[in-house]
Amino acid sequence: MFNTQIHEIINQSLETIDPEIFSLINREIARQSEGINLIASENYAFRAVLEAMGTPLSNKYAEGYPSRRYYSGCQYIDEIENIAIERLKKLYKAEHANVQPHSGAQANMAVYFAFLKPGDTILTMNLNCGGHLTHGSPVNFSGQIYNVVHYGVSRKDELIDYDEVRELALKHRPKMIVAGASSYTRIIDSKAFKNIAEEVGAYFLFDMAHYSGLIAAGQYPSPVPHAHFVTSTTHKTLRGPRGGIILCKKEYSKDIDKSVFPGVQGGPLMHVIAAKAVAFKLAGEQGFVDYQKQVIKNARVFAETLQSEGFRIVSGGTDCHMVLVDLRNTGLTGKEAEEVLSQVGIYVNKNVVPFDPQPPRVTSGIRIGTAAITTRGMKEDVASEIAKLISILLKDTSKKDYVTKRVMEISQAYPVYSAGDLK
Ligand SMILES: *Cc1c(COP(=O)(O)O)cnc(C)c1O
Repeated sequence: MFNTQIHEIINQSLETIDPEIFSLINREIARQSEGINLIASENYAFRAVLEAMGTPLSNKYAEGYPSRRYYSGCQYIDEIENIAIERLKKLYKAEHANVQPHSGAQANMAVYFAFLKPGDTILTMNLNCGGHLTHGSPVNFSGQIYNVVHYGVSRKDELIDYDEVRELALKHRPKMIVAGASSYTRIIDSKAFKNIAEEVGAYFLFDMAHYSGLIAAGQYPSPVPHAHFVTSTTHKTLRGPRGGIILCKKEYSKDIDKSVFPGVQGGPLMHVIAAKAVAFKLAGEQGFVDYQKQVIKNARVFAETLQSEGFRIVSGGTDCHMVLVDLRNTGLTGKEAEEVLSQVGIYVNKNVVPFDPQPPRVTSGIRIGTAAITTRGMKEDVASEIAKLISILLKDTSKKDYVTKRVMEISQAYPVYSAGDLK
C-alpha cells in the first residue's frame, strides 16, 4: 500500500484505511451515549473541542513558547497558543498561564520539578481522604522522590482539619503544601492553606483538577488569589480536551515555563492546545455558568435522594459535582456496587471512603459525579430517578431487568453526539 501510492492514500478516510479501528471508535462513541455516566472525572467534550483536536495541527513541532520556538513555521501555532494563554488568564484572573502540560499529572510534575529537590518535604492530602496519586503516593514518582507527609480529614465530620494541617506544617516544615483532591466533595479553604503556608515559609500548590469548571463559572471558591501555583486538568468539569494547565504568579512564570519545557516535556500537542483555547472560550460564556449551577444542583439531588433511601453520604452532602457514598451499612463493597451498576449501564467508580477498612482495589464506597449527565441535559427530576434506580438495584440485585430498561429509556431521551459524527 505504501511507496508508490503514498500520495493517493494520504487523503483516504480512516474508514477505508483502517476499518478495524474505525469500527471500534464508532462502537465506543455509541457506548458513551448508551449508558448513564456518573464517573466524576469524565465528561463529554464540546463537539467544537473535538473538531479542533482532530486536525493537522498534530503534525507541527513547536518546542518552546510563542515567538521563542526551536522550529520554523510556527506563525499560526504562536497565535493559537497566545490566544489559549490569554483566554485562560482571563477565565481565572491569573497572572501567568502555561497551556502545554499534556495532563494533570504532568502539570503537577512540572511544578514539583521547578521548586523542589529530591528529598524535600511536601505536605499533601492522604489518598484515602481524597488526595491524588501525584500528591505523594508511594507508587507515584512524587512518593518516591520527595519526603511525603499527609494530612487527612477529621473522623468527626470528615472535613479537612485545618488545625491538623497547621500542626503538621509547623512540625515538618514542608517546602510545599498541596491542596486539591479527587474525591473530597466539600469547599476547600484555600485562604486557610495560604495562611499556613505563609507561616512556615512553604510554597502553596492548589490542584483544582476536579473543580476547575465550577471555579471558572464562579460556583466554587477560586484558589487563584491565594496559591503560588494552581494546576488542573482540562477534561473533567471544564469539558475541554484531555490535558493539563498551570497558573501562577508572575514572579514564578519563567521557572514554571522552563520546567514544563524543556524540564519534563518535549514538543507541545498543538492540536490539543487549539482545543483548549476553544474550551476556555466556551467556559467564559453564560451558558457555562448555567451548566455548572445545574451540575451542583444535580449532585445535591443525588446526595439527598440517596440519603432518604438510607445510604450514608460522606460528610453528609456535597458542595461540588460529586457525591461519595459509604456503603458499609449495605453489606456491599465498592467493587461489588461498581460491578452490579455497570451491568445495568450505570457507570460509577469504586472509591475509598475516609478511614476505609478495605484495600483500594475493593473499597467501601462509590463516587458519583454529575458533570457528564448534566452535559446531556439531565436535570433534578432525572438525577433523582437515577439515584432511586441505584438504590433499588443495590438493595435488591434481582431488579436488574427493570433498572436496565429505565436506564436505556433515559439515555435514549438524552443523546450525546449526533450519529455519524465521525466521518
Ligand atoms: C485527575 C487528577 C489529576 C491527574 O490528571 P491526569 O490528566 O489523569 O494526569 C491530578 N490531580 C487531581 C486532583 C486529579 O483529580
